[in-house]
Amino acid sequence: MQFLYALRSKGVTDTAVLTAMERVDRASYVKGIFSDRAYEDMPLPISCGQTISQPSIVGIMTQALKVTNRDKVLEIGTGSGYQAAILAQLARRVYTVDRYKRLVDEARDIFAAHDITNITAFTADGSHGYSEQAPFDKILVTAAAEDPPGTLLAQLRVGGIMVLPVGQSDTVQSLIRVTRTETGYDYEELRSVRFVPLLEGLGAD
Ligand code: SAH
Repeated sequence: MQFLYALRSKGVTDTAVLTAMERVDRASYVKGIFSDRAYEDMPLPISCGQTISQPSIVGIMTQALKVTNRDKVLEIGTGSGYQAAILAQLARRVYTVDRYKRLVDEARDIFAAHDITNITAFTADGSHGYSEQAPFDKILVTAAAEDPPGTLLAQLRVGGIMVLPVGQSDTVQSLIRVTRTETGYDYEELRSVRFVPLLEGLGAD
């Protein structure tokens, strides 16, 4: 309850998103000594030198994406799998990709242990998207690019939404919502955020 209260006070007000976040236990996605801090509103370290995002930011990004139960969603940056598990509560199907095989393997194990069957997790450089399953209704990028990657914009269906942080990796970035229209793309700036960078190629682990 404390957890939901903290989310609401930071702007996560969508009931469906709050319900999804109540159902996904963040402690399952955080390992070892950090699991004690799973219900605090802060990013925490995970394998491969990456981080699980702050819960209020996960909530704000999920809310901004306006996910419905008909949606096919692509997430770039599986990390712990926490964000994907929340998306999977709201969407029809979630594809999630990370450049570290180890993170993908660990996330897959957690999804299987929790009987989450509508997520496909795979290892690849997500900046190329996933052309086999495009177009997507929604795309969520959880690592920062300097500009919205053109390949990902092209894999959004007309009427589709992409939410992503943009900006240099070591500075404050902007969380952007892009909506594809019949004639182009509409951009909205939502707030400032700080994410690890979207890197090219596969990770070493
Ligand atoms: N959504 C995650 C947090 C992601 S942290 C969660 O819920 O825990 C950002 C992730 O993006 C890292 O795991 C990093 O490996 C991944 N990443 C960075 N660049 C990438 C790329 N080009 N393709 C796929 N994943 C990438």
